[in-house]
Order: sequence, then structure tokens, then C-alpha cells
Amino acid sequence: MKEKKELWDLFTKREEYNPHILDKYSRFPHYLSNNRNVFEPKVSKYLVENGFKPEYPDGKKFAVCLTHDIDAIKQRYLSYALNSVKSCIKGDIKGAIKYPTYAIDKKKHPYWNFRETIKLEEKYGATSSFYFLALDPGERDYNYDLQYIKDEIRFIDARGWEVGLHGGHRSYNNYEDLLKKKNKLESFLGKKVIGYRNHFLRFKTPETWELLSKAGLKYDATFGYNDCAGFRNGMCHPFRPINLKTGKEIDIVEIPLTIMDCTLLRDYMRLDFKSSWNLTKQLIDTVAKYNGVITILWHNTYMLDEYLEFYEKILKYCYEKDAWMTSGKEICEWTNKL
Ligand SMILES: [Zn+2]
Repeated sequence: MKEKKELWDLFTKREEYNPHILDKYSRFPHYLSNNRNVFEPKVSKYLVENGFKPEYPDGKKFAVCLTHDIDAIKQRYLSYALNSVKSCIKGDIKGAIKYPTYAIDKKKHPYWNFRETIKLEEKYGATSSFYFLALDPGERDYNYDLQYIKDEIRFIDARGWEVGLHGGHRSYNNYEDLLKKKNKLESFLGKKVIGYRNHFLRFKTPETWELLSKAGLKYDATFGYNDCAGFRNGMCHPFRPINLKTGKEIDIVEIPLTIMDCTLLRDYMRLDFKSSWNLTKQLIDTVAKYNGVITILWHNTYMLDEYLEFYEKILKYCYEKDAWMTSGKEICEWTNKL
């Protein structure tokens, strides 16, 4: 009985209701959680042991939800100048010249890699989701206008990859702002947008789910920790969240986020590549064991050099394990059929 209560509290994330402390982006971080075993999907384990056995298309045993947040598509001009100077000092003339070229031709910039990403995923029989910001000039982290990358967005959509919304700094907690961004992306795309992730993984339990549902979104893929990989509420399966304040299920699918590139490698856990890979492999193997869905967030700004190699390593490993590698949209539609 006690165990069931603990699992329920973990699943609903009771500890995130009325928290005393949050980080500077109003997030509930892993370091404040009582669940110290975040690499073990305890709730999913319990469900599977009690008869839950999801079946994926073509007899696949587990799924990988591949996602990309598009925060920036170029560096600021000052960065070009600085990088150029640095290359000059190192005597790297080729490098010194390439940075000004990026500033002149947007398509030459290494962040402009949407078609390459699609091609890479295609090689492994995968599809994915791209979440775009729909900010206006002057808003925090406004880095691009949808109009500026219209050909790429239309290309992504036409190829059958998903275009979803990447909500701005205020969207997770402000219905008008959320709706405005959704409408903007939809009118630009000429079709409904169903998938969502908030910038900086900003999220308020359970209010963000309620707002997303009210705005007509069908799924969210924000629910993971920014400061640690793993299973935030012990789930490695998509689920419909419960609002403990109303006692009701919220009409939205959550596809919980498991691994974000910068969590592992740069900003938070600060693992080296070897440890990052060991943990990634461990999480993939765990999700495969419970016939679950592992959600990977790889920014376009990480689709370069050794980070790109790391992403391809994930694709290759999951391909060899015969995973269903697909977009949030496909996972959501599959969940709704269960
Ligand atoms: Zn973002």
C-alpha cells in the first residue's frame, strides 16, 4: 500500500505542487526532488510488471522520440568577428575567412542544418520533430523570424517531419502568450500545430499542461529535468497527466523528455563524452527493457563536430536495437489509439 502511494505521488509529481524553492527560470530542478533514483522508471516498471504491454508498429519493442528545439540559426555578428580574430591569431586563415561568409550567406552557417539532419535520420529509417520559436522582435531570446527560414520550415513539413511549437519564456505560464505563438506558427504553416516544448524546459506542474490543453495542443514534450537526464516522474511511457487540484485527468499527452544534449555534455551534468555515452546507453537499454519511449532532444546548434557524431551514435545504436524512431506527432497518435 505504501509503495502504491509513493508511486502515485511520483507519477503525479505531488512534490512539485507549491514548491518553496525554484531555480531562476522558475523550474523545479532534480536537485530538489526526493526521488534520488531518476535513472529508474519506477512507475513504468510497476505498470509493466502488472500487465501493461504496449505494442509498437511493425512489432518494434520500444520507441525513440527524436526532437530538435530551434533556438538560434546563426550566431550574433560579434561572435563572427571574435571567431574570425581568434582564427587569425591561430594562423588559421581558412577559419578566419569562413566566419564572415556565414554572416553573408545564411545557408552556409553550420546551424543551418535542417536538411542534413533529415537526411541523416532518413539513413536510419527515422523521422523527428522540429520545434520553432514564434517570437516577435524585442522578446527575450528573439533570434530569428519565421519568415527568415520559411523555405526550411516548409521543406521539413513537406517531407513529413513534424513542425511543432517551441514556446517562449512566458508561454508555459501565460495563456494569451501561448495562444498568440501557436496562432502565429499555424497561420505561417497553414495547418494545425499539435506538438509543443517550452524553451529552457520551463514548466509549471500541473498548470502548464492545463494551458496547453486549453490552447488545443495535443502533446507536450517538455517534462524532463534540465539539470539531469532520466525519468522525472518515473515514467518511460507517454501518459495523460493528472491534476491533483481537480482530481481529473488533463486532456493532453505527455511524452516525457529523457535526454537533452546540453544536460549531458555542457551546462549541467558536465559529463565527458565517454560517461555521456555510457549513461545514454543505460537509459536506452532501460527503456527497451520496459517497452517504453525514450525522448531525445538534440538542438540544431549541437549538430556539429563531436556532438553530431554523438547524435548519430544514438541513431545507430537504436537502429541496431530495432527501435521505432519517430516524431512526437506519431508517438502522440499512437498513444491516443491505446
Ligand atoms: Zn529552447
